[in-house]
Amino acid sequence: MNVLQNYINGEWVNSKSNTTIDVVNPATKEILAKVPNGDDTQKDVEMAAAAAQQAYLEWKNISVLKRIQPLFKLKTLLEQNKDEISRLITMECGKTLAESAGEIQRAIENVEVACATPMLMQSEFLENVATGIDEFMIRQPLGVTACIAPFNFPAMISFWFLPYAIATGNSMIIKPSEKVPLTMMKIFELLHQIDLPKGVVNMVHGGKASVDGLLDHPLVKSISFVGSTPVAKYIYARGTANGKRVQAQGGAKNPVVILPDADIEMTSQIITDSVYGCAGQRCLAASVVITVDDNKKIKESLVEAAKSRTVGYGLNNGIDMGPVISNESKTRIESLIDKGVAEGASVLLDGRNKKVKGFEQGNFINPTIIENLSLSGELIKTEIFGPVMSLVQMKTVDDAIAFINQNVYGNMACLFTNSGSSARKFRNEAMAGNIGINIGIAAPMAQFPFSGWKESFFGDLHGQGKHAIEFFTQTKVVVERWPKEWSRKF
Ligand code: NAD
Repeated sequence: MNVLQNYINGEWVNSKSNTTIDVVNPATKEILAKVPNGDDTQKDVEMAAAAAQQAYLEWKNISVLKRIQPLFKLKTLLEQNKDEISRLITMECGKTLAESAGEIQRAIENVEVACATPMLMQSEFLENVATGIDEFMIRQPLGVTACIAPFNFPAMISFWFLPYAIATGNSMIIKPSEKVPLTMMKIFELLHQIDLPKGVVNMVHGGKASVDGLLDHPLVKSISFVGSTPVAKYIYARGTANGKRVQAQGGAKNPVVILPDADIEMTSQIITDSVYGCAGQRCLAASVVITVDDNKKIKESLVEAAKSRTVGYGLNNGIDMGPVISNESKTRIESLIDKGVAEGASVLLDGRNKKVKGFEQGNFINPTIIENLSLSGELIKTEIFGPVMSLVQMKTVDDAIAFINQNVYGNMACLFTNSGSSARKFRNEAMAGNIGINIGIAAPMAQFPFSGWKESFFGDLHGQGKHAIEFFTQTKVVVERWPKEWSRKF
């Protein structure tokens, strides 16, 4: 069985670790590869950091116009290889082919935005800040940067950071999720072809040990993390204690609110796409659906829309929803549904213990809807990260906003309405970093920061767009006077 190699200093190299774990197709249970894991992966991090530092020292002095040229090539290669990368994502992560292709498109858009780095990296200049004295600010790269990615978007998430990091003159080490490393293997084959100097981009596999290696390595100057909240907190604490710049995006529990004036059919279609897309394994998946006032019609419509989704292997035609990532996830999600029931909820649509013909071992859960969930219970606060909708009824939009604002997470909140004034109030008062109005997945496009709040984000500057440019550069202010001016009277 193929043991995956790291990519360090422009070459494919074996890991120093002999321990591996299996990469498993969540639908078929086929073992796709073995990925290095275990303590010795820290030695891989050391090699990568040394190579990345060496590369950075030269790369930072290459003109920014030259630094973006490889990104144009990367965009073309990603487009040309979209089908193959999509298949890999579907095979290791489980989402449908259409979802996988959509994810690559989002990655490409970040490459496009990073091509504007010669504009985005420009800074400020003030002539005559005092007589004969000019003051200006420049942005310089940090050095070796690192990205630690989750399983649910094996291609896209590293692209919230990678193109910006290298365009601004840094080098980067990527640590993909050990559950889905094959997509990034293919992407590094493409990165190998775009004429980047050796060591500017590197990839090290592994789990906690390689992450800790990155968090502790003195040459690594920044960490861009995306994953669950407990790990995000840990990364932020340990990374910043070691003096690094850290942006750590965490988990979510996203509420959507439906007002009585919303279009029922459109709303239920959009919301079911949000809840069940990628089998609910998106950090922007709607999880708690709050209906304001009488909810009979919308409830019926949501159940119909959820029932109509075809569950199966994402490589096959006509599939709307694939499996969840692992057996452990399936067990965890099904026991959370049980917990909701124990807390007084009723199951309107039960997706537990379902089998897909031909893929009986797969980690499938069908669309599930639970209602009458206790507002003081645990489940209403817990990230399920699976295809489960919790339906809750409230009296007013103010009640809904108050409920949203006591949520410990703040990744996304959405409102469905025809009322401009309700929408305006909602976007102003709801305490979440990404707001959707008649949108089910309020995913910021590459030009905007991915703005999680509260326990969905630890740090100051988010991924994507101008935030990424700022994150990957440090400002230097220069106050300047030239001898000719010295003779002036002050
Ligand atoms: P995870 O936290 O388990 O893993 C993320 C990364 O951290 C992986 O590379 C993993 O190897 C590493 N890791 C895991 N445990 C670790 C530990 N104890 N110490 C050090 N490193 C560790 O997350 P996941 O299951 O891969 O991804 C799902 C989670 O990611 C969900 O909570 C989801 O909401 C979140 N997510 C958030 C966003 C966002 O933008 N906020 C986007 C995607 C996913």
